[in-house]
Amino acid sequence: MTQTVAFIGLGNMGGPMALNLVKAGFRVQAFDLNQTVLQQVASEGAIAASSALDAVSGADFVVSMLPAGKHVVGLYTDVKTALKPGVLVMDCSTIDAQSARTVGALLTQSGIDFVDAPVSGGVGGAKAGTLTFIVGGSSDNFAKAQPVLSAMGKNLFHAGDVGAGQIAKICNNMLLSILMVGTSEALQLGIDNGLDPKVLSEIMLKSSGRNWTLELYNPCPDVLPNVPSSNNYQGGFMVDLMAKDLGLASDCAQQSQSSTPMGALARNLYVQHQRQGNGKLDFSSIFNFFKKK
Ligand code: NAD
Repeated sequence: MTQTVAFIGLGNMGGPMALNLVKAGFRVQAFDLNQTVLQQVASEGAIAASSALDAVSGADFVVSMLPAGKHVVGLYTDVKTALKPGVLVMDCSTIDAQSARTVGALLTQSGIDFVDAPVSGGVGGAKAGTLTFIVGGSSDNFAKAQPVLSAMGKNLFHAGDVGAGQIAKICNNMLLSILMVGTSEALQLGIDNGLDPKVLSEIMLKSSGRNWTLELYNPCPDVLPNVPSSNNYQGGFMVDLMAKDLGLASDCAQQSQSSTPMGALARNLYVQHQRQGNGKLDFSSIFNFFKKK
């Protein structure tokens, strides 16, 4: 029997994710406050719902992809009594872990299963159906989520209990930002002292400075083809979103009294870069921060 997924939040990520569920054979009841994106997914096979309540009606699964914790808490506060018994709710937004736990508790009180399942992979991964989902929730709910998540992504990880998906995601993105800043300043130091960034990259890739940003996402233009730095920092993962994730990491560190000096520095650099008008560029554009002007 065809299963129904309610999909709430059809923006840059949610739109293509919802369409991958349509392609996988789910009946998708979609809703977004923005009529333009709602009509776009409806024209490609989803059913346009008139409200979030209408979207979740009769659904076997609910997926949300919203901007921040307040939107997710607001949504599930509004629709919790309309959810069908046995439904699994999956919030794929990147939000603070505390909001994820609040929603988990709210739904559990009503007998509804919940996982947080933030993603890595960006808009390209959402379109290609190759996202990585980092799931927080019980083992049973992780297993229950797999048919839906695997229609939108390639790698599914079970990070721990509700909220753990969000924590793992911000730990990863904090480390990524630190690696990107470090790679950028090391490359610029070499360039300032007469080195060719391609040669320096090759040397560091065979040495102990090797890391993901240097190998697959080099921030210096024209070292690698098909990366945002070689395309005026267009596409990829926006500075605005990295600054948001570093803010979540900083709040989390404050709550757990963790010492994250490198993350704090990376956050300050990204916020400064964002305030200089670079919010819509890919996050590897932090390289320009170090460039001789
Ligand atoms: P977006 O702004 O493009 O989309 C968000 C959508 O949610 C919008 O269409 C908006 O109208 C809708 N919306 C807001 N409140 C709503 C409500 N109450 N009911 C229904 N619809 C509502 O954002 P995005 O880039 O798609 O990101 C969504 C989430 O995914 C964010 O949490 C973001 O941090 C995360 N994320 C984004 C990327 C990326 O590369 N864009 C990568 C990983 C994770």
